[in-house]
Amino acid sequence: MQLLHRGDIGPAVTEIHGVLVTLGLLPPPNGHGGPATYDASVEHAVRAFQQQRGLITDGVVGPATYRALTDAKWRLGDRSLAYFVSRPISGDDVFALQERLLELGYDAGRPDGIFGRQTEHALQNFQREYALNSDGICGPATLRSLRQLTPKVRGGRPVYLREQEKVRRAGPRLRGKRIVIDPGHGGNDRGAVVNGVAEADLAWDFARRIEGRMVATGMEALISRGPNSCPAEADRASFANEAGADLFLSLHVDSNRSPQAQGVATFHFGTGNGTTSNVGEALAGFLQREVVARTAMLDCRSHPKSWEVLRWTKMPAVRIEAGYLSNPEDQARLLDPGFRDVVAEAVLVAVKRLYLLGEDDRPTGSFTFDDLLRYELTRAEGA
Ligand SMILES: [Zn+2]
Repeated sequence: MQLLHRGDIGPAVTEIHGVLVTLGLLPPPNGHGGPATYDASVEHAVRAFQQQRGLITDGVVGPATYRALTDAKWRLGDRSLAYFVSRPISGDDVFALQERLLELGYDAGRPDGIFGRQTEHALQNFQREYALNSDGICGPATLRSLRQLTPKVRGGRPVYLREQEKVRRAGPRLRGKRIVIDPGHGGNDRGAVVNGVAEADLAWDFARRIEGRMVATGMEALISRGPNSCPAEADRASFANEAGADLFLSLHVDSNRSPQAQGVATFHFGTGNGTTSNVGEALAGFLQREVVARTAMLDCRSHPKSWEVLRWTKMPAVRIEAGYLSNPEDQARLLDPGFRDVVAEAVLVAVKRLYLLGEDDRPTGSFTFDDLLRYELTRAEGA
């Protein structure tokens, strides 16, 4: 598709204008008709939308932003939903349906906003148990029942319980575990660029440092992109899905108009309705604490997000924003290879802590890479 940006006019601009109004990001038009113009207020609204959705915040509507906008306009009940093999329906209404099924105890998998076979199965199971026509179509009657019921699952959705069980069964050793490391941006997309330092290159450097350490412990580390390419978020997710990865780790650094903004933050899959990947949350928490304890960076905490790459990955997925390039202190840290080694070590220890299931009570920040190697070796001999 053609990119839409400031100054554009036409039906596509009118369409996205309408969606932004529906989402409350733009005021309703004041009635003097005519096609909408991509003016400063539209650009501002697009940026706000991109920020909410974890898209690149450039105020330009490219394919990813356009798809997210067209998904966002659908509310549950606007249309009938069903599984079409050749052209699956996607949208925020599908996402809401999946969340509702999970709340009611039906295993629709991780909500990804795409009506696939697993969503159909879960819906049919629901319909059968509630004596509805089990056609797998979410029409008015099914929707009414879905809305009337109160959630019967508390404290754990099946898809997330399965994730937890998988981690428990995997055992404490790192050897043999497969992780996809996802350096953000790349190729023509440089990410944040400040004083000639590009996020894409920093993310790549982090990825290589983490990869080296993982391989040394016997883990299988795969990188989601080449040094000079930028796959779409969906492709990064399907790369990890096809590899059957145990974990997915996305690496970014942040920037802000205010040079004061600084610190480290981590993100895992979750939504405002309380649907959260517990394993993702645990890993994000370990990662956050280990990095903060080892670097004295400002703690911007971990947060649930339903960003594309977190939604579409089928394994626990975490994203780290390791400091602000736009902040002088953080930038000095990021430019120091020693700092990048410390972060890489923190990542390894966080993954290790996840698989130790809280069995190791060494204080945060004190577990070293040598400890990890020793652990792997002694366990290997003892096995
Ligand atoms: Zn980024």
